[in-house]
Amino acid sequence: MTINFETSTYIEQLKKLVNVDCGSHTPAGIAKVADVLAPMFEQIGFSVTRHQLHADAGPCLEITNKPDATHFDVMLCGHMDTVFPEGTVAQRPLTFDEEKIYGPGVTDMKSGILSAWYALQMLSAEQRQKLSIVIALNCDEEIGSCYSREWIEALARKSDKVLVCEAARATGNLIRSRKGNAKYELTFKGVASHAGSALEDGVSAIYELSHWSLAIKDLVNLETGTTMNVGIIEGGVAVNVVPDFAKATVDLRFWNTDEAEIIDNTLRTMAKTPFEAGASVEVNRLAFKPSMVPTDATEEMIALVSEEADKLGLTYAWENAGGGSDGNFTANVGTPTLDGFGPMGAGLHSGKEYLIINSIKPRIDLLVNVLERF
Ligand SMILES: [Zn+2]
Repeated sequence: MTINFETSTYIEQLKKLVNVDCGSHTPAGIAKVADVLAPMFEQIGFSVTRHQLHADAGPCLEITNKPDATHFDVMLCGHMDTVFPEGTVAQRPLTFDEEKIYGPGVTDMKSGILSAWYALQMLSAEQRQKLSIVIALNCDEEIGSCYSREWIEALARKSDKVLVCEAARATGNLIRSRKGNAKYELTFKGVASHAGSALEDGVSAIYELSHWSLAIKDLVNLETGTTMNVGIIEGGVAVNVVPDFAKATVDLRFWNTDEAEIIDNTLRTMAKTPFEAGASVEVNRLAFKPSMVPTDATEEMIALVSEEADKLGLTYAWENAGGGSDGNFTANVGTPTLDGFGPMGAGLHSGKEYLIINSIKPRIDLLVNVLERF
């Protein structure tokens, strides 16, 4: 279907999605975004099911042109939440100049969702009839999809291919792979005592933490990309008290999910034999996202997308990204997944977030042309 693409209309529509505080922990805001999006998709002939996956979460939207389908040719992924707290929109609502659009979540990833909506209505009537398409819009991507992961994975298992509509890089790059990640909380317990009169009676939780911190540094393997970072530490109560408590929060990133499991085992084994006599350590994995690694089927899809991007004369390359998305989950269940089908932008998760206006239409065209080939 030919529709007139007007940048001014796109920005007006985007404004309705951006000017709502809808952080992952603001479910009412996410519900408002869903209230804007659901009728838009219905208006172009898609049916929308609203899922409330957890009482603390916002709604998720399952959108399809084939409500009775048990199998989908393609799944598109997007998230309605942002990382920003309530009050952000009042401070810096959507604004724009000649080249860029600014605002919380404008690039990550309200524009990706809006562009997918445009692409679906630009699809030829034949292709819309032929393809079974599902669009999953979740409410919790920025907190690791803790509520929606199983739902996303179930849809991915029913789908032949997944395109994630997160933004393309400001360079134009698309995403072929993403590192996996995990977050650990390590809790160290010792024995408190007076640092002056009874030092020898104490067991320092901070000394134990210090050993662990350096041991974790030694687990880093820059060659395979399995990296760890002790990002936050806390502990102790007073300078003259041997500390009986300390805590470290640790980030783990990896290409190879097996290596991540080895690290997990290593940490749990280390906890059985603390460095300091009398200390104890608890290892708690707070979050885990497997890596998104291309298979042969993904490589075929990369070739197809590259062909279409070349025909459109786009500037792009295929990037291996350090950060995760829901593509990590869909790839991990074995469904070939590519990411970066939104417009181009950068500065994500910060006040500097921006979207590049002249990338909007070409990237919609790319998505349309790729969908026409499926
Ligand atoms: Zn995102």
